[in-house]
Amino acid sequence: MILIIGAGLGGLVTAISLARAGLPVAVYEAASALTETGAGLTLGRGAQHVFRDLGLQADVAAFACPAGSLPFLHYKTARLLMGTPDAGDGTPDDGATDIVRHIYRGDLQAVMLAHAARLSIQVHTGKRLTGLEQDHVSVTAHFADGSSATGRLLVGADGIRSAVRALLHPGDAPRFTGHVAFRFLVPAALAAPFMGQGRSAIFIGPKRTFNRYTMQGGKVVNCAGLAETGEEVPEGWSLPSSIAEVGAAFPAWHPDATGLISQAHAVIKWGLYDRTPLPRWSEGRVTLLGDAAHAMLPFLGMGAAMAIEDGWALARSLALEPDIATALARYEAARHGRCETMQTMSRRQGEMTQAMDPDTLVPAAVPMANQDLMGFNPVRAGV
Ligand SMILES: Cc1cc2nc3c(=O)[nH]c(=O)nc-3n(C[C@H](O)[C@H](O)[C@H](O)COP(=O)(O)OP(=O)(O)OC[C@H]3O[C@@H](n4cnc5c(N)ncnc54)[C@H](O)[C@@H]3O)c2cc1C
Repeated sequence: MILIIGAGLGGLVTAISLARAGLPVAVYEAASALTETGAGLTLGRGAQHVFRDLGLQADVAAFACPAGSLPFLHYKTARLLMGTPDAGDGTPDDGATDIVRHIYRGDLQAVMLAHAARLSIQVHTGKRLTGLEQDHVSVTAHFADGSSATGRLLVGADGIRSAVRALLHPGDAPRFTGHVAFRFLVPAALAAPFMGQGRSAIFIGPKRTFNRYTMQGGKVVNCAGLAETGEEVPEGWSLPSSIAEVGAAFPAWHPDATGLISQAHAVIKWGLYDRTPLPRWSEGRVTLLGDAAHAMLPFLGMGAAMAIEDGWALARSLALEPDIATALARYEAARHGRCETMQTMSRRQGEMTQAMDPDTLVPAAVPMANQDLMGFNPVRAGV
């Protein structure tokens, strides 16, 4: 049995990929129920290739929206600074794998849970991992409720505050970056007067950005305002903010940004933390993936896609290679360099965006993230 800790995006893709390869797997999730959490996600092309390989592509596309282009706009005038304006015509989704999509995290998790149920994968909730021990034949996970589970491999897919990572690397603490993300949703009917620039747009101001895009088949607009802050803010889905607090962080911005803020529903704030890349993710019969291995800043919107690509690659390695040590070495060889590069690029993209002077920026003068990096096909690359 392979034990997966965490039923987030990375954990569920790993479980589905392993089950499809005929390998026994069980998932252990700390939450007492898997209810909808989160906001919108950008799903890069690599994740779309994984979904196609797993037969999930049509189900995912049914909930997602093609991203279209992402114009960078002046924060006060909405003048185009970089990129191309979005056609704004809601081009129908033809299910292609070579486009970026936006999706609500809860919808994606629901698609994966339904698929996991069809494959008879056991997902145990209320199982918070608190300890583990391993020897040369097995690994045992201990949970807060006093129960335990034993298998031949344990996968830490337990997110940015990973307990598995903390047990393998005590003292490895994240660093607060001095930035906060305000996140909220607006129903499309209320957002409509403020969507003049099409489905996706990012407003660039001094040391702050305001990003919004449609998702859920065009029914909802996902908004994220990223700003510098003097106070340390924790990460997580549960720290409430308010329209007044977001409004104060984006004063006198273009009416299409402030208009969306005025319609915000249930604003949360989320401190942005950076982590030093780990030299290795695996130790004996334990390995890490997704945010547990390489949580990255959100400036490229690639964290979830990396977790999804990792899960697929780990399962493929284990399916091809019966020896655990060899399979884990193969997995890390396929994934470590790409994820470390993406962590670095995400950090740089943030520094570049926050340092832009929207008043003097010459249109198209700043290079966008490397297209080879963003267009990578993990299924073709293999392990
Ligand atoms: C502001 C912001 C914006 C973002 N925008 C994007 C974006 O546009 N596109 C994108 O790709 N990514 C984005 N991300 C990143 C993305 O959300 C994560 O990279 C992704 O969710 C990681 O998936 P995961 O499976 O590794 O972890 P998660 O999805 O976080 O799942 C971890 C799971 O483990 C469980 N768990 C935790 N501890 C334990 C324990 N001790 N025992 C058992 N279970 C446990 C949790 O309850 C959770 O279900 C953004 C992040 C932030 C902060």
